Amino acid sequence: MYPRIITTFIIIVCLYAPVFSQVHSHGLAVTSSRLAFVPYNFERRNVGENDVLIDILYTGICHTDVHFAKGDFIEGDVPDGYYPLVPGHEIVGRVREIGKSVTKFKVGDYAGVGCLVDSCGECEQCRRGEEQYCAKLVPTYAGVDKTGQKTYGGFSDCVVVTERFAMKIPATVPLERVAPLLCAGITTYSPLKYNNVRSGSKVAVAGFGGLGHLAVKYAVAMGAEVTVFDVVESKRQFAADIGAKRFVNTRNADELLNTADSFDLILNTIPVNHDVEMYVKMLRIDGTMVILGVQKKGQVPTIHTDQLFGRRKIYGSLIGGTVETQEMLDFSAKHKIFPDVEIINNDAKTVDKAFENLDNGKAPFRYVIKIKP
Ligand SMILES: [Zn+2]
Ligand SMILES: [Zn+2]
Repeated sequence: MYPRIITTFIIIVCLYAPVFSQVHSHGLAVTSSRLAFVPYNFERRNVGENDVLIDILYTGICHTDVHFAKGDFIEGDVPDGYYPLVPGHEIVGRVREIGKSVTKFKVGDYAGVGCLVDSCGECEQCRRGEEQYCAKLVPTYAGVDKTGQKTYGGFSDCVVVTERFAMKIPATVPLERVAPLLCAGITTYSPLKYNNVRSGSKVAVAGFGGLGHLAVKYAVAMGAEVTVFDVVESKRQFAADIGAKRFVNTRNADELLNTADSFDLILNTIPVNHDVEMYVKMLRIDGTMVILGVQKKGQVPTIHTDQLFGRRKIYGSLIGGTVETQEMLDFSAKHKIFPDVEIINNDAKTVDKAFENLDNGKAPFRYVIKIKP
């Protein structure tokens, strides 16, 4: 009798093992607000019927990763379970496994994952394809997924994601340069589209880093006349090379002359405190400034609202939805718009150094970690 019970038990365990098994993952994590990465093994949820499992090839490093790693956005005490934190929301890889209801991908396809891995799917924002504004969105890391598991980002060898939040990556693109489009690309593309930038539009890009240089490339491709504002003189030539008509070094008062009432749209990507009113004054009547840079507490710029008379508008924009993210990837492939990147090795010391440089404003336009050797 016992052997029969044991046999039955083993059969049940074997039948249901896939439900209980998890996906083993290996990555790099920070364990406190001190920026020091360590190797970290963890489990991801099993591949559900609408999920895809992606082997990660490249992951970009975003300035927001530095803020999250340091806990800059946490009010009060660090919540239990916040660390270990595996950052990374600019992910490109190859599909290893698909759930039984998945239609968008087959095994072996290239796929990208950005800042979100799930949302409620039912609210007004989700129905409009603007999942980034869903109240129940699941961030790629430092969130909790539909099975109750903590989410971990792309500084790791694989990721499990709801099919809707995996983007199709055309096979013709340079994969190592596509990863940053999943955050930096959509963050800049979305407000240009929303504000109907077209031939003849006068666009300014304030802050010429990871976001800013992509903003210039997209705006130029859409036909705009683009002016770049930055403080680093050595970037002047590069701005011209990618099509900016004018470069203004904001430390040089002479160059700031004749900039008032000049722009239909300003994309403000500056991630530290700055004189935001200076830029508001550069807007034409009915002009709009979009805030894209994220500052840490204590560094958020302020504005006197009387500067907004003249129907000057100012709003903040957060990445983009799944539909627009796919549109941005297809637009980037068509116009060959990719970020300038420095590829770095996937080891703790190298990533530590990259984070230190980002934190000190000394980084190249974008770091990308080569996950698979
Ligand atoms: Zn980002
Ligand atoms: Zn929703």
